Amino acid sequence: MTADTTDVDTAARTGGCLCRQLRFRATGEPDYPHTCSCRHCQHLGGGPMMSWVSFPLTGFSWWAGSEPSWYYTFEGETKRGFCPNCGTQVCALDDDGDSIAITLSALDSADDLTPVNQSFRDDAVSWLPQVPDTRHSAVG
Ligand SMILES: [Zn+2]
Ligand SMILES: [Zn+2]
Repeated sequence: MTADTTDVDTAARTGGCLCRQLRFRATGEPDYPHTCSCRHCQHLGGGPMMSWVSFPLTGFSWWAGSEPSWYYTFEGETKRGFCPNCGTQVCALDDDGDSIAITLSALDSADDLTPVNQSFRDDAVSWLPQVPDTRHSAVG
């Protein structure tokens, strides 16, 4: 491995909700793709887990006329963003954060990034395999 900055993945990624009322573009380096099986993700996602990746807010933009509705899961700290029309869960944002978490499912290329870990394993359902922690595995 080299420190060559061309290794940094800053490809433009687009995505949005099912009805396409919400659309976004992210150009920054994706940070920490992971699944989460916390109870918030189970309830909001309507499934046993959600999957997330963060992008810096500096390279992130909603398309014109595209604005999520917000629901605070931690009042004054963290909110979830969803489409006011179709209800798709698209993002999560900390009030003082400099990055935005996007659901992998909302990306147009949903299989582009592979989760490297799973959060809140203790809350995970027993009938689904968990995502292995691959963050520290040797490369090559
Ligand atoms: Zn929608
Ligand atoms: Zn969660």
